[in-house]
Amino acid sequence: MTTSSTQNPLTGKLLFPFVAPPNGGKGTQTQILSERYNLPTFDMGSTFRAIMKEGRDPQLKAELESFMNNGKLVPVETVVKIFKKNFEALAAQNPEAKGFILDGFPRSQDQASALATLCQEWQATLAKVIYLNVPMDVVKARATGRRFCSQDARHVYNVNDAKLAPKYKKMKADGTGVEVDAQGREVWQCTLDEAELIVRADDEPQTVEKRLVEYSKETDPLIAHYRQTQELAEINGDQAPEKVTQSIETVMHPILALAPVS
Ligand code: AMP
Repeated sequence: MTTSSTQNPLTGKLLFPFVAPPNGGKGTQTQILSERYNLPTFDMGSTFRAIMKEGRDPQLKAELESFMNNGKLVPVETVVKIFKKNFEALAAQNPEAKGFILDGFPRSQDQASALATLCQEWQATLAKVIYLNVPMDVVKARATGRRFCSQDARHVYNVNDAKLAPKYKKMKADGTGVEVDAQGREVWQCTLDEAELIVRADDEPQTVEKRLVEYSKETDPLIAHYRQTQELAEINGDQAPEKVTQSIETVMHPILALAPVS
């Protein structure tokens, strides 16, 4: 049978959008759960970055750049068009998956409405919106405590987290104490290669503050909307990562267990 619904790669699929503040642990959790349940992840930000890198459409590239470089949301029409095309392609490549994780979409109420319309068109189900609730002071501490090795950016630490903290502070050459940076912060050394650790521009307190204000402005109404429609699963994101995973699984597991095998 070749009806339009059987041709559609999203018919009958379960969608799990994840929402969390910056540094809320969304990347870690989506990666674990995507592998555990064979739910491919569609990542909106990475899709934009790939389009810009590819550069096949210079006008689109310039448009995306102008918003992304200022930490602003890309206009809804552009986002939805790119989402639809690329997400349908991902679904077509993964016919055996019961569903998909959405990372970074929807991010505002008008995007949520667009997703609801698309779900109807595809006959897909928005299963649950997984919201990792992490207090603002915790995400601020995560961001402002992060330090990168100046020699190898894969060596990442967090001076505000005992488990992730580097071992040594950098001592002044004259031996009179710990070296401090221009902002008066103590300078640490990489535990692996002893290189100086640095704070990324993105993690400077004023930048972090700006990003969180922007996040609340766009996301608070989205959360309120999904809470009202009872499509929200609120997870305490201020726990050890494995506890957060367990909490999310108590929501996702029963839904996936009940889903028909495709
Ligand atoms: P991310 O990788 O999620 O941090 O996204 C990087 C940037 O892409 C954001 O700062 C926005 O400019 C843009 N972006 C990502 N997702 C969306 C979205 N759903 N709507 C609008 N803009 C987005």
